[in-house]
Amino acid sequence: MQSHSNTIVVIGTGGTIAGVGSSASDHTGYTAAQLGVAQLVAAVPSLSGAPLEVHQLAQVDSKDMDFGVWRELAQAVAQALARPEVAGVVVTHGTDTLEETAWFLQSVLAPSKPVVLTAAMRPATALSADGPQNLVDAMTVAAWPGARGVVAVLCGRVHAAADVRKAHTYQVDAFDSGDAGPVALVEAGSLRLLRPWPEGQALDWERVWALEPAAWPWVEIVTSTAGARGEAVRALVHAGVRGLVVAGTGNGSIHRDLEAALAEAQAQGVTVWRASRCGAGPVLGAHPRGWPSVGTLTPAKARVALMLALMPV
Ligand code: ASP
Repeated sequence: MQSHSNTIVVIGTGGTIAGVGSSASDHTGYTAAQLGVAQLVAAVPSLSGAPLEVHQLAQVDSKDMDFGVWRELAQAVAQALARPEVAGVVVTHGTDTLEETAWFLQSVLAPSKPVVLTAAMRPATALSADGPQNLVDAMTVAAWPGARGVVAVLCGRVHAAADVRKAHTYQVDAFDSGDAGPVALVEAGSLRLLRPWPEGQALDWERVWALEPAAWPWVEIVTSTAGARGEAVRALVHAGVRGLVVAGTGNGSIHRDLEAALAEAQAQGVTVWRASRCGAGPVLGAHPRGWPSVGTLTPAKARVALMLALMPV
């Protein structure tokens, strides 16, 4: 039994970091989620002998992430963090929905130890795979004294769950934190802290654990565009949607036809929140219909926030 917190629990969920391509130059035609997390760790010589435990929780391309995996993941992370000898948790993940998983974990757990999501844009078989260095950097952050909260570590940057977003389709340096910027930089195995670690209020997890994922409140995103129509909203309301996040134009503005359908939806008990499709910047100011702004959350993260807000208490 160790007398101080130094163990890192590494949880594998799949993604390109565990992906395999048919040739070393194949950066896009590979298959994600093929290698186990133990293999990913074993491939990094500097991690040999490190005090870590590995746990394969899922093996998915994160485009297919679902609430069943989220619930299991949150439980596994909470259990690991509750162990006194555990300093932090690293989660290997796909890049496509990494920001949603990070925000879900931060919202539910708001951990006082570090939970570090990491990923790769190139498969493990690529000539210049980015996964191994990202994994080493994630381990550095998970073991860093004073680190806390859910963060994503990619390309030498530490991003807070609330701010991180995938901002490029294929480049290695694909993630940013919008106006907020990264929390820290990983520099040669050391951290340069740029701003405080994420803080937050944990949810009452029992609420989330108790509910089967199929019963989690249904929330969808609708996007405002030129020529937007209300039919999609009406169809969703008819099908039983509980909440709608509008990815508005610019500062959260909404096409008049879409707005009319959203007003009808609200009259039928559907909760409407406003985000922006811009990709950066907050939605400022009040809306005449009282639909709240989600601040700087991306529409995908706002959807998670609204779903959690609609969970029965
Ligand atoms: N589709 C992959 C995934 O999200 C992409 C990646 O990991 O980069 O699992």
